[in-house]
Amino acid sequence: MIIDAHLDLAYNVIRGRDVTRPAAEQPYVHNETATVGLPDLRAGGVGLVCATLFTASVEHGVLGTYSTPDEAHAAAMRQLDIYRDWQARGLIEVVTEISPDAAAAGDVTRAILLMENADPIRSPDEVGQWYDAGVRVVGMAWKQTRYAGGTGAPGPLTPAGVELVRAMDRVGMIHDASHLAEESFWQLMDLSQGPVIATHSNCRAIVPTDRQLSDVMIQAIAARDGVIGINFFDRFLLPPAEYGKRRATLADVVRHVQHICQLVGDTRHVGIGTDLDGGIGREQIPEEIETAADLPRVAEALSAGGFGDEDVRAVMSANWMECFRRYLPAG
Ligand SMILES: [Zn+2]
Repeated sequence: MIIDAHLDLAYNVIRGRDVTRPAAEQPYVHNETATVGLPDLRAGGVGLVCATLFTASVEHGVLGTYSTPDEAHAAAMRQLDIYRDWQARGLIEVVTEISPDAAAAGDVTRAILLMENADPIRSPDEVGQWYDAGVRVVGMAWKQTRYAGGTGAPGPLTPAGVELVRAMDRVGMIHDASHLAEESFWQLMDLSQGPVIATHSNCRAIVPTDRQLSDVMIQAIAARDGVIGINFFDRFLLPPAEYGKRRATLADVVRHVQHICQLVGDTRHVGIGTDLDGGIGREQIPEEIETAADLPRVAEALSAGGFGDEDVRAVMSANWMECFRRYLPAG
């Protein structure tokens, strides 16, 4: 069983893809060859994913779908409805808790709902409604949001962001630190005793941009028993000197995994959060991966990189499984 902590499934439906079909039958959108359909996830043994409600402000370019909090709310609700529809059709199972026996892969891909960019939460007192709707992980930023500084937008939590952190902690929502600006990240770590993970972020030591995590940020997440999901976007995998000169490979993924393991001194705080369908296509991911059905090759690459069987299992699923069991306990 494989756990992928970051896929933008519903967002791709909004972009015109039928994600219930295999990637090979989905249209080429924005110069990207599709890599993720629900049948590919099943074929790859991907039994659990974090599935996003991803929205972006029109201020932030072509991905943008909203300009007011109400529009952001409506955009995220449309994506929630897509997951509910799939669940009603037996295509996925939206899960809000993880039971101890959840490690066995079922026939249906399970999905933990993750809100990426908190602008659809119109005010912090709406957190409970999103929690009741099934959302269990929230990342406050993408770029700048009403709550936090984000990628390419350095800065602190806003006053509403401070309130949002407190509201999330009251209901037990997991914080996703991916995309958080550094200043906002450290404020979150100070303010909150709640769970902090990074669903799709790589190592700034290899790719020095604010989108990736610095070594001290990685250590802080690990110290809080969080897990970091390695992102498969080549721009986030390859050192700048190599980007654009060669395709990324799974050895580049392994390099980020190794960096985190060496830094924190164990193999317990890293997993995968591929973001394979996050506005990128087959052209921008490791060349060994044609579709999500090829994700078992990541395990082979880890083995080839010197990881033992137990550590391979840890990275492919067990670390995320343990994390979600701890923070989304059954019953
Ligand atoms: Zn993202």
